[in-house]
Amino acid sequence: MIISSSAYRNIRRQLDAHDATLVAVSKTKPAEAVMELYEQGQRDFGENRVQELLAKREQLPEDIRWHLIGHLQTNKVKYIVPFVHLIHSVDSAKVLKEIQKQAARIERRVDVLLQFKIAREDTKYGLEWEEAREILQSEAYRQMNYVRICGVMGMATFTEDEALLRQEFRKLDHYFRQLKSEFFAGDPAFRERSMGMSSDYAIALEEGSTMVRIGTLLFGERS
Ligand SMILES: *Cc1c(COP(=O)(O)O)cnc(C)c1O
Repeated sequence: MIISSSAYRNIRRQLDAHDATLVAVSKTKPAEAVMELYEQGQRDFGENRVQELLAKREQLPEDIRWHLIGHLQTNKVKYIVPFVHLIHSVDSAKVLKEIQKQAARIERRVDVLLQFKIAREDTKYGLEWEEAREILQSEAYRQMNYVRICGVMGMATFTEDEALLRQEFRKLDHYFRQLKSEFFAGDPAFRERSMGMSSDYAIALEEGSTMVRIGTLLFGERS
C-alpha cells in the first residue's frame, strides 16, 4: 500500500519549495505500486538493481524517467544505457568508461552523477575526493563524448544525529562546488546534488539537495 495522495502532494510541495526533484525509489515494490504513484503524476522512479529495473520497465508506461541509484556492475551497463534517465552511482573510472563505450555504440548521450563516500560507516561504494579528481583530469575522460556528468550523489550515515547528517551533506555540497569551479565552470548541466532519503531528506534539502531519493515514505517499509 502506498501513501495517500495528500501525503504525496505534501512531499512534492516541500521539494518544489527547494526546486528539488523527487525520485521515488520503488525497489522491491511491485509495478502496481509504481503505477499508483504514476497516476498521481510522479514520473521519476529509482531502482538499485538492473534486473529489477528492466523487469518493471517492461510493465510500465514509457514516459517514466528511470534512475539507477545502486552500484552498477560493468557487465550490466549495456542493458540500461539505451533508456536510462540518470545513473546516480558512478563509483569508478571503470564503470564510467563502460558507460561511454556502450553509449557511443548506440550514439545516445547518457547523464550520470559521481557517487561519493560521505558516510562515517564503512560503505563499500563511492569515490574518494582524490579519485574523482583523477578521473576528471584523465585523458580518457576528456575523450568521453557520450557521457555527461551532471553532478554528485551521496548517502549519509544511517543515524538520527542531525549534526552528523548536516556535516556529511555539507561535505557533498562542498565537493560539488569544488568540482564545479575546477572542472565544470559555465556548464549549466552540472547542477545536481542527489542527497536525502526518507529519514533525512528535510535536512538534505536545507543543505542544498536538488534531488531526493525517497522509498519508504512513499511505498511503506520494505520487507
Ligand atoms: C533504498 C535507497 C533509497 C531510499 O531509501 P528510503 O530510506 O526507503 O527512502 C535511497 N537511495 C538509495 C541509494 C537507496 O538504495
